[in-house]
Amino acid sequence: MNKNDTFGVIGVCGANGNLIARILKQRGYNVIGTDLSFKKDCRFAKSLEGYDIDVFYGKTPEAFFKKSDYIIPPASLPKDSDVLKNCDKPILELYDIIEMIKPEKPVFGITGTNGKTTSTTLLKKIAYDNGIKPCEHDLEGMQGNAEFIPILQSRLDGDVGILEVGTFGVPGTVGRVVKNTSMTGGVITNITPDHLNDLGSFMDYANVKAEFIKELDGKTLIVNGQDPTIMGLLRELDYKGEVITFGVDELPDSVGMKECVCGREIAVKEIISGCGYYFCQCGITTPQVDYIATNVDLKNRTFDLHTPDEKLTVKMGVDGLHNVYNLIGVIIAAHKFLDLPYDKILPSVASFTGVSGRMEEVAKVKGKDIFVDYAHNPAGVETVLKEFKKLFGDFTTVITVSSESGYPGDLGIFNSVLKFSKFIVPASVASHKIAIEKLEDNPKLNDRIFLNHISDFKKTGTLGASQEEVRDGLIKALNLDCEMVIAIGEAATKFKSVIFEL
Ligand SMILES: [Zn+2]
Repeated sequence: MNKNDTFGVIGVCGANGNLIARILKQRGYNVIGTDLSFKKDCRFAKSLEGYDIDVFYGKTPEAFFKKSDYIIPPASLPKDSDVLKNCDKPILELYDIIEMIKPEKPVFGITGTNGKTTSTTLLKKIAYDNGIKPCEHDLEGMQGNAEFIPILQSRLDGDVGILEVGTFGVPGTVGRVVKNTSMTGGVITNITPDHLNDLGSFMDYANVKAEFIKELDGKTLIVNGQDPTIMGLLRELDYKGEVITFGVDELPDSVGMKECVCGREIAVKEIISGCGYYFCQCGITTPQVDYIATNVDLKNRTFDLHTPDEKLTVKMGVDGLHNVYNLIGVIIAAHKFLDLPYDKILPSVASFTGVSGRMEEVAKVKGKDIFVDYAHNPAGVETVLKEFKKLFGDFTTVITVSSESGYPGDLGIFNSVLKFSKFIVPASVASHKIAIEKLEDNPKLNDRIFLNHISDFKKTGTLGASQEEVRDGLIKALNLDCEMVIAIGEAATKFKSVIFEL
């Protein structure tokens, strides 16, 4: 291959084809593209603007094949399709591109059950604030952790790759991302029972996250040392790289049971869900961590961070104890991976106000503060509501979730909501169903659970609730005697604009 070659990319309106076209163009090759969609329907047409890539929309003309020296079809196009059967140019596949073009920059990953997006967003902000440009996929509306997006994103222009790794519990995917981005370091926020829909047991799920550790063997890992699962996996896998641990010096406020890597059930004196002080007969126990937060003051949003060399005072722009953990992991990553001194890191941390949709204060309506949070699985809901309770006391929760893991997930979510909230307003089909069961079991709950605000629930896609259901739920919540309202779930986040209509 040489720089005068022209690559013909089929399917530039799909994420992979779109990224491949831009990667090849940035590396100096000629690129032309095509897609069955018309330009007005092409989801990522905007990403190609400014790239000098000719695109044939709607129909692929003969000229496309004639001009191309190589053809790159999407993985979804069958090899025996008419388009490819009649093509006399050499065909390259996704993995050929991954082989041919390397990231050529340091790449770091962030994984874990909770806090990935917040941590990734903050680490990138610190980079930008200091003139370091992370590569971005620039695919509008895409979260970006679907399998091949991080792999291809790491090959786009930039000084550094900062990648969120994995959400889906499918074996092989996490390891593949680490390997194919030549990743040299990573952060693991926590590993708690969650997202169990695809796999059987908690340890099956933990083993998918363990691929991150396996593939980074010999490199550097920054981990939450108060998570017995992470520390257990490091031991089980005999990890040989550098391990940097962090934690928070706080009194535990509950005890949770968690499966140890050895198979025993162990009690964790929890500081946040699934993390805290633990001891197992197999020898796994809370270590003396390398970085520890003390004097955590959530009201004034400050804490002290003891590094191996000094004591820092950290100001937070976000709320919650779980975010203290997220922040420490990122501060260490910025120091170790981006080589930045702490005085260049802490101002960016202080001015970071969080990711939209995460404990986001949307508006004040009729004197009541309305928050939305993206939490949509039992562990996420538990963590957020617990923090909310600590920060604000009484609140009403509007549930817009229909859990991915079906009934057990919905029940887990409802139980957390019941535990922490003053009033409960179900606004999704799933939560409505569970509310009816709860009221049948215990009619006394009818002064806390409110049902009759929505006459007819519709089953709606993957979002959990429709825009009308979110709105009606919020209206009900605003009429209850409680100053704070939090609407949880993806639907609440997506339709938060209805709050402005109220
Ligand atoms: Zn054990």
